[in-house]
Amino acid sequence: MGALFLDRDGVINRRIIDGYVTRREDFVLIDGVLEAISIFARHFDHIFMVTNQQGIGKGLMTEADLADIHGWFLKQVEAAGGRIDRIYHCPALKAEHSFMRKPSIGMAIQARHDFPGVVLKQSVMVGDTASDMLFGRRAGMTTVLVGDEPEIGRKTPHLVDYYYPDLLSYAKNC
Ligand SMILES: [Mg+2]
Repeated sequence: MGALFLDRDGVINRRIIDGYVTRREDFVLIDGVLEAISIFARHFDHIFMVTNQQGIGKGLMTEADLADIHGWFLKQVEAAGGRIDRIYHCPALKAEHSFMRKPSIGMAIQARHDFPGVVLKQSVMVGDTASDMLFGRRAGMTTVLVGDEPEIGRKTPHLVDYYYPDLLSYAKNC
């Protein structure tokens, strides 16, 4: 069965350019995200978030800080009638070349292991960067680019199957 994999920063919440969301106050949802996830909950058997969080590896935030932000977010999702089955995050530094860090596909493999019904070839990856698209492509998924940089799709057309300006636009068309 197909699952939906969602990147976080730039898809769910506003990206902080050259910085990290280290506390709940900085975690600002993009308009329409909660409605989008409530729509996805009717279309997909599983919904996962997959996010690189090297701010932890850099010591800028702790696992507890991240858990606080994600706990708050999951409450908003459920209150809006949506669902996220599990959040996967990779705290490793880029330089560590962790298999769990996108664009390597460790988090997708982990989700398939945790939820054995998941078939990656029937799944969809939504992200806002070329790295997310590469992650999805390597895992055999359909890829959906969202966000303010549609040019990523022109620069790497082999990685991007669909483009929408934001998550809600995709939800209304999926
Ligand atoms: Mg992102």
